[in-house]
Amino acid sequence: MLAPVSDEDGAPFWEYAARGELRIQACAACGEPRFPPRPCCPHCGSFDSEWRLMSGRGRIWSYVVPHPPLLPDYADQAPYNAVVVELADAPRIRLVGNVVTSPDAPLNSLDPARLRIGAPVKAVFDRTGLPRWLLERP
Ligand code: ZN
Repeated sequence: MLAPVSDEDGAPFWEYAARGELRIQACAACGEPRFPPRPCCPHCGSFDSEWRLMSGRGRIWSYVVPHPPLLPDYADQAPYNAVVVELADAPRIRLVGNVVTSPDAPLNSLDPARLRIGAPVKAVFDRTGLPRWLLERP
């Protein structure tokens, strides 16, 4: 199972996620959101930041369905999906993840044929705090 790997800049993301909150780092000076988290704003150079609460809603911007050969831990789970989600509250921010049928469902719980570019999705968190995605209209 995938588990979050944290670092100093990304630690707040995972702390909020463990509480079921999807928050994105944003510049406290110019307001631009940024991801992945980093110390300095790429737009204005400020080191002041805040963690902005997102609604968790987004759209599938792109996706792939990996095919063999796969790493051994993943081969048994194919076919599964990896999606890029554009956040409704911060459209320039895109997160990579998986669409599943419930927060702790297996990686391959959704038939990949049900995925469409542009489909609305909603963030959920599994028991480790990993964000995953559900189709808004299953
Ligand atoms: Zn800024």
